[in-house]
Amino acid sequence: MDPYRLPRTVVPSRYDIRLEPDLTTLTFRGEESIAIQVAEPVSEIVLNAVELIVDEAVVVDAQGHEQRAAVTLDEAAERCRLAVAAPLATGTGRLRLAFRGTLNDKLRGFYRSVYKDPSGVPRTMAATQFEATDARRAFPCWDEPAFKAVFSVTLAIDPTLTAVSNTRVASETREGARKIVRFADSIVMSTYLVAIVVGELEQTEPTLVGPTPVRIWCVPGKRRLAAFGQEIAVASLKFFEDYYGLPYPGDKLDLLAIPDFAAGAMENLGAITFRETALLVDERAASHAELQRVADVVAHENAHMWFGDLVTMSWWNGIWLNEAFATFMEMLAVDAWKPEWQRWVAFGVSRAAALSVDGLHSTRPIEFPVRAPREADAMFDVLTYEKGASVLRMLEQYLGPDVFRVGVHEYLVRHRFANADTGDLWAALGRASQQPIPAVMDGWIFAPGYPLVSVGVEGRELVLRQQRFTYLAEPLRWFGAASATPAPPARWQVPVQVRIAAGGREMVERVLLTEPETRRSLPAGFESLVANEGGHGFYRVRYDDGLLERLLGRLPGLGAIERFNLVNDAWAVSVAGLMPQARYLELTARFRDERDKNVWSILIASFHTLNRLVTPADRPKLEALVRDRAAGALAALGWTPRAGEDELTRQLRGDLIRALGTLGNDQAVQARAAELYAGHERGAAPVDPNVLPALIAVLGHAGDEGRYHEFFERFRTAKTPQEEQRYLYALTAFPQPALVEQTLARTINGDIRTQDAPFVVRSLLMAVHSREIAWEFVKKQWDTMDRLYPKHGLRRMAEGVIGLATPSLEADVHRFFHERRIDLGGKTLEQYLEQLRVAVALREREGAALSAYLARY
Ligand SMILES: [Zn+2]
Repeated sequence: MDPYRLPRTVVPSRYDIRLEPDLTTLTFRGEESIAIQVAEPVSEIVLNAVELIVDEAVVVDAQGHEQRAAVTLDEAAERCRLAVAAPLATGTGRLRLAFRGTLNDKLRGFYRSVYKDPSGVPRTMAATQFEATDARRAFPCWDEPAFKAVFSVTLAIDPTLTAVSNTRVASETREGARKIVRFADSIVMSTYLVAIVVGELEQTEPTLVGPTPVRIWCVPGKRRLAAFGQEIAVASLKFFEDYYGLPYPGDKLDLLAIPDFAAGAMENLGAITFRETALLVDERAASHAELQRVADVVAHENAHMWFGDLVTMSWWNGIWLNEAFATFMEMLAVDAWKPEWQRWVAFGVSRAAALSVDGLHSTRPIEFPVRAPREADAMFDVLTYEKGASVLRMLEQYLGPDVFRVGVHEYLVRHRFANADTGDLWAALGRASQQPIPAVMDGWIFAPGYPLVSVGVEGRELVLRQQRFTYLAEPLRWFGAASATPAPPARWQVPVQVRIAAGGREMVERVLLTEPETRRSLPAGFESLVANEGGHGFYRVRYDDGLLERLLGRLPGLGAIERFNLVNDAWAVSVAGLMPQARYLELTARFRDERDKNVWSILIASFHTLNRLVTPADRPKLEALVRDRAAGALAALGWTPRAGEDELTRQLRGDLIRALGTLGNDQAVQARAAELYAGHERGAAPVDPNVLPALIAVLGHAGDEGRYHEFFERFRTAKTPQEEQRYLYALTAFPQPALVEQTLARTINGDIRTQDAPFVVRSLLMAVHSREIAWEFVKKQWDTMDRLYPKHGLRRMAEGVIGLATPSLEADVHRFFHERRIDLGGKTLEQYLEQLRVAVALREREGAALSAYLARY
């Protein structure tokens, strides 16, 4: 028997749960009555529970025989065993439990969130976060996604408070000093989707989408920040009903902003919970990037109402399908809502992040067998979300969007209110497309890595070759290199679209590259070509020198995503040692006239990486190179928006100012930033919301102690979640060692919420000015952070070690993790260490050549 799966001799079909949270004592009591199906005459029932005290358990079997059960809690296995004297009759029975627990501060299970009300008084609310396996911390249950059941929730609360759960309120009554809120029955769903929020809450006026009221909830004083979130919630709900061809499965849709929240958001059916920055925003004061984040997360969670909630993975190995699909759908919905945002071009940034991790030897397949649920913890990463969404996009484009959609509809209809797996989706898409989907997709899903497609012209022929792309020739050797990666396939089935310019015309050729090499004859009058036309493919392209030069001469003829990929692939190929760094830096000089914010983001990201590698003596020269590349673009855009200018251009202006004022250490930009910021603060000359966050970042970078305290106060008293984030991260930009120390201290003394602290430390580890101080702090405070931060906090924070890109720091990082026997889940640590190795190896290999190249600046 599998020790990680509950026996199926007794299974639930319905839970009637009553919970009574007490926000003063930070405890709760609960009772539940569970309808069960007894398949065999067993005398033991096994279900999940942890950190709960079960006071009473009574079982009534199908023959009406009632027995008190002896309760044994196995905390390590997170199980509760109920033993009865006489075997249970088979058929429908009932299990009644009474239990108690605490409202913890670890942001999981049933937890408390503490925030200040508008007058500065601390307030407490209670919320739940159950995925993956924390419903068992709130009530004993069969806490596996395949045990779907109906949930009927009743809450007994302080009458001054408000309660929200997955469904509409069915009745509200009084019982002594308590308000009794009973919610309608849920659809048949998994335990991890149950949600309960209790506190002083404000709601917006509902908008009806068909019969479904859509509302935003938040703590008092923040309702004015809800309009934008509600707008995209409504738009995406309509979009998905139409796309999926199925009505929304719940009876209402509430979106709730929780002041303390570990993840970004959680797709509880009908009661989606968010961290505040992902839902609440002042539309007039926010940058494009801040608005896009809200739109993305809201659309993503709404997409899950069908994909994940209505149809659910059978077990945790299927997490990828949930998350990849929701990420893919989020793009479709936001793209349909605001086509001017060019969401699929911006998705290039996400795809690039996935290509980076998947280029490591220590990557993993998107889907792999999972036994213990905690093995799935490390699945919530860039490979699941971004690689997963990328390969779905590639498949959608390959099959055609209409065929893809038909397959998705069929999959949802066939498996609704039940569970399904990857194979079921492939089968549905196969029926819709009449194509052998597993043959095309298995290499992308069940094998690690992806191909580098080399493109060359030999004589009159186009030659395409594929090989696995890796940054390092050999896997990293380190103490914990334990888990063997499944052997990659010799090759992938790569849908390559090539756009060929010949004789003054352009044509697109579709090639399914299944062999190591394939050849096509080129048309007469051949001029140039773009492989990965449209940019949807999850692979890298390496052009031969002649083709690359032709493309660089025709940049305006390329789409933004194609230019993005050109830079991104060239950078990766040079990091992997297949192109000299100097050649890459020469290439960046061809993009001075670039006006797409995403292309700039990849250029700037590569300069950031180099900044962590160059010697202190070379750093001013790298700064000069950054100014050389970016100053012209900012000068052309100007510092203030022009009439009719689009949102993306405004965002680019902010990004260029930030890059020049920090990475480029441009003193004129810093002075101008100070001037504009002062004018804005006085109310004399308001600054564009896309520029303001950049000014704050630049002023942090160039700031002194006085500015630090000013920014800390602004962080503490911020009026929107976005403003709070801007000032918080600006604190990490101050280079003075004493201020770095202060910021670090604030990550464990309560000044910075534990939901944010890991990310702040990660920033400090990544930045040249603070990385050594931050690393010393992390080593010293690891156990404290482990105690304070939410689950996954340390994993997210430790990503910052990638920034410790000197040979001596790298050695120290290895020593620390080795001595402390630290495991960050899955292959996470191995991946961080390999990324660090890639950076240090680049420095060792190219240091002298880089230095020689930079000497001209
Ligand atoms: Zn999701």
